[in-house]
Amino acid sequence: MHPLPQASVASALSPADLQRFGPNPRESFAANLALVHRRIAVACEQAGRPFDSVRLLPVTKTVPADILRLAWSAGVTDFAENKLQEARDKAEDLADLAIRWHIVGHLQSNKVKYLTRLADEFHALDSLKLADILNRRLEADDRDMNVYVQVNTSGEQSKFGLHPDDAMDFIERLEAFPRLKPQGLMTLAVFSDDPDRVRPCFTLLRRLRDQAQRLHPRMTGLSMGMSGDYELAVREGATVVRVGQAIFGPRPTPNAHYWPGLAE
Ligand SMILES: *Cc1c(COP(=O)(O)O)cnc(C)c1O
Repeated sequence: MHPLPQASVASALSPADLQRFGPNPRESFAANLALVHRRIAVACEQAGRPFDSVRLLPVTKTVPADILRLAWSAGVTDFAENKLQEARDKAEDLADLAIRWHIVGHLQSNKVKYLTRLADEFHALDSLKLADILNRRLEADDRDMNVYVQVNTSGEQSKFGLHPDDAMDFIERLEAFPRLKPQGLMTLAVFSDDPDRVRPCFTLLRRLRDQAQRLHPRMTGLSMGMSGDYELAVREGATVVRVGQAIFGPRPTPNAHYWPGLAE
């Protein structure tokens, strides 16, 4: 609404932000974003897919609100957070901006009321208990919510999500929760530089999505791919890529902070 004039950008940032994001975060952010868009376009072309078949969802965990304000003024209106509390704090700071918030991390059922107040979309549905509580809350608020069903395709203990063998039964049972609008499936692939280890996670999710679509024709979505593997994910059919560090720079917190038990 009131984009900061370029000259005042650096002075509006805290010393910690300046250190992490540099004196001109808007420019580096815009360059990073353009590069990610270009790489998605190339991956789409390689896969024979139209560019607009992939949605880029910027993930902003640990990125402070004043940097998000810059991103917003550069035209980004959707932000994804892993932890609800962090999203709530930023949403409060940025209440004057028309932002769509997406929650992509595991949620405890006692936090559901905050989710429905804040978020447009939820990417980590992985239990019937949560589905039931969420559906009731949405009913009380008289609204629907787009959800993605999270599947653990890597077999790692540290990752949340349903066992692949349980996914179809779970999806059938979602019929009982009319306020939930299942859009597709979501996964985190194994964290590896070796595409031959990462790719099977994506192909498994795609196979499950094809089955799910026979039950729910609307379940066309594949939310998969992060900074390290989004191009591969696009080549394997991703419709949403959740990208943080490739846009906002490296995170100070280790991945194990979000996926406890993960070997770093
Ligand atoms: C942090 C996060 C991402 C993005 O990870 P980057 O490495 O920053 O691209 C994607 N999905 C989920 C669920 C996340 O928590």
